[in-house]
Amino acid sequence: MVTTLVTGAGFAGSTIARELADAGHKVQVIDRRSHIGGNAHDELDDHGVLVHCYGPHIFHTNSERVWDFLSRFTDWRPYEHRVLGVVEGQLYPFPINRDTLNQLYNLDLDEAGAAVFFEQVREPRAVVRTSEDVVLNSVGRDLYEKFFLNYTRKQWGMEPSELKAGVAARIPVRTNTDDRYFTDRFQAMPLHGYTKMFERMLDHPNITVELGVDFADVRHQEKWEHIVYTGPVDAYFDYCYGRLPYRSLRFEHEHLADTDQFQPVGTVNYPNDHAYTRITEFKHLTGQQHTGTSIVREYPQADGDPYYPVPSDASEALYKRYAALADAEKGVTFVGRLAQYRYYNMDQVVAAALTAAKRLLG
Ligand code: FAD
Ligand code: UDP
Repeated sequence: MVTTLVTGAGFAGSTIARELADAGHKVQVIDRRSHIGGNAHDELDDHGVLVHCYGPHIFHTNSERVWDFLSRFTDWRPYEHRVLGVVEGQLYPFPINRDTLNQLYNLDLDEAGAAVFFEQVREPRAVVRTSEDVVLNSVGRDLYEKFFLNYTRKQWGMEPSELKAGVAARIPVRTNTDDRYFTDRFQAMPLHGYTKMFERMLDHPNITVELGVDFADVRHQEKWEHIVYTGPVDAYFDYCYGRLPYRSLRFEHEHLADTDQFQPVGTVNYPNDHAYTRITEFKHLTGQQHTGTSIVREYPQADGDPYYPVPSDASEALYKRYAALADAEKGVTFVGRLAQYRYYNMDQVVAAALTAAKRLLG
């Protein structure tokens, strides 16, 4: 007899399903998509290159608990992500570091010099409330306009001044020459890909997985003792307070035959040119050897699958009303990026799901 229904086979759903199953509970996992892994799903494209169907997913965490949990289901390939930003046709290290300054302004700053530079150009803000505040407060207007303003407009369809500080605060500013996108303690890619890792996570005698099944079609069945829901929280409540904004993307995948390498690093950002924000070349991430290469361009859009909660005052106020309903909903646990309406990275979702499982198991 199935006792727990888990809606969503992404990081949130798969983590909680595995934890409950390990503790002896029977779990039924459903997903309306035809595959597991949620937005982290990867697969071989028509040319045999491993690609991330929903945009580039780079794993990084400082949490030993999360690292240990996932390491039960995969070996890892060490990988440190690097990104370049295109400004006026030139490629610069991004996040902004000392090399970015030296190359952009034709300077020869050392670390202390870079700190002085930022001190001279920054526009101090007494209160840092928005993403505009974050960037102006740390690097000033010229770098803001070159690297952040237009990227953010494209990505969110909003002004940086309308977005909470946390969005731009994801990006550090450095006086050294560290050009890694992340500095977390653990940085690696699942050796055989995310989908293989999810297959192993869900491979348990207490777990059954049904794909192509929508929550709406099973929610009223009375055989569940508990429900874990990882889809959009507003959808669960039939949008009773109106729709929460989620930003979407269109992914344009392309394979380039007989091309060993398309670009020098995993991702190149295009803050000011094109309708897309960035291009990612998967072979950098996966280390795969292939005579061709596969890339993806990300085109932000308002409609489509929900990918990003939108961190603004208005959306967070609306989310709070849904969160109150979620708290009061008996027998249902809401967890994950869409269900908790948080701009979570993968490791944060795993951590939230591990915590939720622990609470459920008492
Ligand atoms: P999801 O992966 O969205 O899974 C939810 C699942 O629920 C989906 O499969 C969905 O089909 C299913 N579902 C929803 N509603 C229903 C329903 N009614 N019935 C049945 N099933 C339903 N994080 C990083 O750490 N590093 C990165 O580099 C990174 N890059 C990213 C790039 C992009 C373009 C995006 C969009 C996200 C990125 N993330 C990254 C974030 C990462 O994707 C998420 O943190 C993580 O995948 C969220 O897991 P989840 O289980 O909460 O949600
Ligand atoms: N950002 C920017 N320019 C860039 C990269 C990022 O302005 O070249 C801003 C933008 O607002 C973006 C946010 O920083 O949404 C967070 O960037 P990140 O790369 O973490 O976004 P994600 O990978 O989650 O899409």
